[in-house]
Amino acid sequence: METAIPYKIYLDEDEIPKQWYNLRADMKNKPAPLLNPGTLEPMTLEELSVVFCEELAKQELDDENPFIDIPQEIQDFYKMYRPSPLTRAYCLEKKLDTPAQIYYKFEGNNTSGSHKLNSAIAQVYYAKNQGLIGVTTETGAGQWGTAVSMACAYLELTCKVFMVKCSYEQKPFRREVMRTYGAQVSPSPSTETVVGRKILEEHPDTNGSLGCAISEAVEMTLDSPGYRYILGSVLNQVLLHQSIIGLEAKAAMDKYNIKPDIIIGCAGGGSNLGGLMGPFMREKLLGNEDYKFIAVEPASCPSLTRGKYVYDFCDTGMVTPLAKMYTLGNGFIPSAIHAGGLRYHGMNPALSQLYADGLIEAVSAKQTEIFEAAELFARTEGTLPAPESAHAIKVAIDEALKCKETGESKIILFGLTGTGYFDMQAYEKFHDHKMENYVPTDADLEVGFQSLPDLPNL
Ligand SMILES: *Cc1c(COP(=O)(O)O)cnc(C)c1O
Repeated sequence: METAIPYKIYLDEDEIPKQWYNLRADMKNKPAPLLNPGTLEPMTLEELSVVFCEELAKQELDDENPFIDIPQEIQDFYKMYRPSPLTRAYCLEKKLDTPAQIYYKFEGNNTSGSHKLNSAIAQVYYAKNQGLIGVTTETGAGQWGTAVSMACAYLELTCKVFMVKCSYEQKPFRREVMRTYGAQVSPSPSTETVVGRKILEEHPDTNGSLGCAISEAVEMTLDSPGYRYILGSVLNQVLLHQSIIGLEAKAAMDKYNIKPDIIIGCAGGGSNLGGLMGPFMREKLLGNEDYKFIAVEPASCPSLTRGKYVYDFCDTGMVTPLAKMYTLGNGFIPSAIHAGGLRYHGMNPALSQLYADGLIEAVSAKQTEIFEAAELFARTEGTLPAPESAHAIKVAIDEALKCKETGESKIILFGLTGTGYFDMQAYEKFHDHKMENYVPTDADLEVGFQSLPDLPNL
């Protein structure tokens, strides 16, 4: 076996990134601005600062500065679990008998179990810096809520989490981890907010959705002085913080002169993919290098592959600004698939623009396919992946198998966003052959599109 490249590439102290990378700065076609749904004018800093911390509102609007300093306190927190290893999947390559080289960046090596902590600590830090008491947020699968709970415990802020009901029920242990870190957790839709009560009245049996939990968290924020809302994906600021993944990955690869041909990430709201690909996309945008980028989404929630590129609300209750993005409609309620972190109707606006410009590709995968890939990965590489991450694994395997056919030795990099320890119910269903592959029909999607706001001039 070739061992010139180690199984794991780590970074030395002086190679650790000290700035985040802001992808939008290098985009020629900038993502469309967030709009105030009342006036249909671009959201101003003042307006955004009602809901978000001021520094984060600034980051949200910044499409000029390519590099932004990571505050020292956040750098210090990162040191507890970063840099995350970049691993060469020698064992998987061997099993697939492929000439391709496969690398993955593993983000599950912290208690929250995913990349979400990279942005949670940043957002909670800025809240604390502004002298706030606490933050409110939502969580889908539970990874984001856990990450925020950890960040709040560390910086001693209070934390209120609305957890999508089906995950609240499927993953009681996640809830307990959050409570261990001091968070207050409610299933969403809840009876604690006007929007929650309204949704419950209209859909008493709903499984909940991220869009709905966001509405609840935003409403509670507006009613709670000293609190701001924070969100774990979709927003530009989240992609900015997640760029730490790509910056580390690129530094590690550069060290060994490895240039990936294909970069793959699962896509829920787009933050891990945007973060991983950011510094590579920069090279592409500047015309220095070319890469193929692939977003992988669940066939049951296909925002990029089957959605519309229009202005929509980021939540179901229509309380957030309007974002131009690939969307299935804010009223689209995805089926209760097990990759809870990918059950979101929209997509980050910058990624949406890049996709519209043909700079990234997108594919979708069915549930049983991704669990097959997850199992193969667990058995060969050792790490038990999150179902979300398994979407990226599946496509990395597909690409490696294509190389086997053509004899090309392409270099594949994918994001392994988290561990699957809290998803054993899903694995159980898969093993017992009780897992269904729900793919919405065009008529099903039409129901979601009906909820798009009617904005004739946009
Ligand atoms: C939240 C989550 C995702 C999807 O979110 P993105 O913002 O698209 O990255 C993927 N994997 C894991 C493990 C997650 O927790």
